[in-house]
Amino acid sequence: MESEIIRRLEAHQLRKTAFRKEVLELFIAAKGVALSNQDLEGQLENPDRITLYRTLKAFEDKGLIHLAVDSGGVSRYALCSSDCTAHAHHDQHAHFHCLECGKTICLEGEVVIRAKAPEGYEVARENLVLEGTCAKCGAA
Ligand SMILES: [Zn+2]
Ligand SMILES: [Zn+2]
Ligand SMILES: [Zn+2]
Repeated sequence: MESEIIRRLEAHQLRKTAFRKEVLELFIAAKGVALSNQDLEGQLENPDRITLYRTLKAFEDKGLIHLAVDSGGVSRYALCSSDCTAHAHHDQHAHFHCLECGKTICLEGEVVIRAKAPEGYEVARENLVLEGTCAKCGAA
C-alpha cells in the first residue's frame, strides 16, 4: 500500500505530505467507491477542513481523483484511472448513485454523450449519473 501511495503521488508530481498520503490511502482502500468530504473527514486522523479542501483540489488538478456529483448535489471524489494527467482527465465514464444508501461508484465502459451544446456554449464537464439501488439495498 505504502509503495503504491508514493508511486501515485510521484507520478502526479504531488508533494508527499503525511496528510496527502493518508487521504490517498482512503481513496485506494475505497476501491472505486466515491468518497464525499464527510466520508473522508470521518476517517481521517486529523480532519482539518481547509487542508482537506486543498488536498482534494490539488489531487483533482493533478489528475489523481475526479469529481462525481449526484442529483442531490453532493460532491464525491473517486480515484482516477492511471492515464489521467495534470492536463487532461480521461474519465469518460458514468457513475452509479444508490438512492437508498448514497453509495456512488465509477462504472466501467466509455460513455459517449451525443448531446450538442448550442453555439457559444462551452462544456466544462460531462457528468452522467445513473441512479437506483445498489446490490445490497436492492436485495433488502
Ligand atoms: Zn481523471
Ligand atoms: Zn445502496
Ligand atoms: Zn468515476
